[in-house]
Amino acid sequence: MEKLIAFSGAGISKASNIPTFEDLGDLRDKLSREYLQLYPYDFFKILLHFHNTIKAAKPNPAHLALAKHQIPIITMNIDGLHQKAGSKNVLEIHGNLERLICRDCSSHYDYKYLEQDIICEKCQCVLDPEVVLYGDSLDKMNDALTMIDKANHLLVVGTSYYTSTAVDIYNYALFNKKKITEINELAEVKLPQILSKIGD
Ligand SMILES: [Zn+2]
Repeated sequence: MEKLIAFSGAGISKASNIPTFEDLGDLRDKLSREYLQLYPYDFFKILLHFHNTIKAAKPNPAHLALAKHQIPIITMNIDGLHQKAGSKNVLEIHGNLERLICRDCSSHYDYKYLEQDIICEKCQCVLDPEVVLYGDSLDKMNDALTMIDKANHLLVVGTSYYTSTAVDIYNYALFNKKKITEINELAEVKLPQILSKIGD
């Protein structure tokens, strides 16, 4: 029996008008640990803008098709669109933009709080997004590999092999002799077609 798992990247959300890393241009470099430490106010200004773009976005047929079949998903996206589509089993290896955290006292904050401050009101620490930034370690990689172990067919969706994370996951599946199907362009058209063949 086919046991599918999906691994999604920015390309799957393109049809939902979420900018890809390539589209972000030099903003991409600013979403880094180094930039947050050097220019925290500018960092959070950019992040709040990105957050607002994402909040307004809707899942497209590619997200909906994966949700309809409840296929487990490993995603590099931080846009939350798989959950918005109704997927239950989603591992967000790069985190998400739902809340901010103070690493010192573990308090959580809404993004709305950024309109007034970027500092924790309890302990005066600079807040942190719950997102893996460039320069951070990737703690959830082992969980991702465990999910791949349980499947025999990996659907790689909207992922250019731009990041080392993507390369690592692809190679792991390849090395473990999983069937791999790549859908890079037009996932919102191709993915529903592919999945309709496996029935409900
Ligand atoms: Zn705090």
